[in-house]
Amino acid sequence: MKTIIEPFRIKAVEPIAMTSAEQRRELIARAHYNLFGLHSDDVIIDLLTDSGTSAMSAAQWGALMRGDESYAGSPSFYRFEAAVKELMPFRHVIPTHQGRAAEAILFSVLGGSGKIIPSNTHFDTTRGNIEVTGAEALDLVIAEGRDPRSLHPFKGNMDVERLEQLLVERGEHVPVVMLTVTNNAGGGQPVSLDNVRRTAEVARRHGKKLFIDGCRFAENAYFIKLREPGQAARSVPDIVREMFGYADGMTMSAKKDAFANIGGWLALNDDELAAAARRRLILTEGFPTYGGLAGRDLEAIAQGLSEIVDENYLRYRAASNEYIGERLVALGVPIVLPVGGHAVFVDAREFLPHIPPLEYPGQSLAVALYECGGIRACEIGTVMFGRQPDGSERPAAMDLVRLAMPRRVYTQSHADYIVEVFAEIAATRESLSGYRIASQPDVLRHFTAEFEPLRRRAAAGV
Ligand SMILES: *Cc1c(COP(=O)(O)O)cnc(C)c1O
Repeated sequence: MKTIIEPFRIKAVEPIAMTSAEQRRELIARAHYNLFGLHSDDVIIDLLTDSGTSAMSAAQWGALMRGDESYAGSPSFYRFEAAVKELMPFRHVIPTHQGRAAEAILFSVLGGSGKIIPSNTHFDTTRGNIEVTGAEALDLVIAEGRDPRSLHPFKGNMDVERLEQLLVERGEHVPVVMLTVTNNAGGGQPVSLDNVRRTAEVARRHGKKLFIDGCRFAENAYFIKLREPGQAARSVPDIVREMFGYADGMTMSAKKDAFANIGGWLALNDDELAAAARRRLILTEGFPTYGGLAGRDLEAIAQGLSEIVDENYLRYRAASNEYIGERLVALGVPIVLPVGGHAVFVDAREFLPHIPPLEYPGQSLAVALYECGGIRACEIGTVMFGRQPDGSERPAAMDLVRLAMPRRVYTQSHADYIVEVFAEIAATRESLSGYRIASQPDVLRHFTAEFEPLRRRAAAGV
């Protein structure tokens, strides 16, 4: 059968407030054309992020009631720890309130000025937590990973030769090697099992630990099953265990591939490092059997981990992203290929060639998606990365708009609606105008900057 059906029935619903195009034009103008300034109940389809936006299952909601809120030694912690170890066989599992807290703890112990921490591509919170210690965060993804047109099946792979060269030349400054699966900042592209193995080999040969940023481990394992020779017959949990078996530790955001709305952890084998991490944890998060979480959150994660590796779910997830991607390509909307695990990335610079990068084509498309169809997406381009430390402006490497898919939240008809909105915008794309920034903060401007359209706009696609 060709129809992609959601492998679940719906038991509780959240109504979507429907708005008219006219209302949305007013709402977005009032938010100074910044999508982060909207109230989320004025959004019809919210694709701002896949982080913490998953729908929990009936079993997860049931598990919440079982949450034991004891300060120390809660059975909820032991269920959480067992669920993590079932997939990621590390000796120590340390719960945190989300992924960045695990990163902050790890790099407060391993970072420091003069150190270099390589990865395929660091996610922005990872980079931030490394740089704040004075260390350097170095991205060593393969060349294909930086080319939106390359069809390489594992564009998230580490460039193992460059890693080797770094460790030969400046190895004494490298405390740990990181690997992000899937490569979020690089478009949700997977890392092959072979690449995990070879990265671990190089790290080990130079006496370095390998830590995996495992936020989307299940999507990554499913791509390995689909695309890597010799892996098709294996179960996803089996592939997951092999992936993490090569590593010495991991950081995790349970807001991604654990179906939880909050949570994370740091897991590792080294006893001394674990003791140092727990000392830090007690200062900043909480006692080691709850970290930054309530007992019920630990239960939701434990149950979510058993559901995220279900192949019926993963097949539906990959297929529905692929479905949107294929139809956008058919409409002539340029996207980053292959479609990643958690999002479809649209190349706004190519889609809107009449808008120069310094007039923010990504912002223009994101605003049009909202005005035309109430869809909220995220600009990942010159608005996000264009401001230089000296206050000047430079075009980012690419001007992308990310359609991040919340897990188990939207259905196939929502996917068709997204495609229809794109068709409408594609037909009138020349009428979209660029933007200027009217006011902005010094750092992370995309969250709060205020924009103004550069021309009086024709009613684009609305
Ligand atoms: C989301 C994310 C993080 C940070 O996790 P939070 O729970 O948002 O703090 C780290 N790495 C990657 C790859 C992520 O996607």
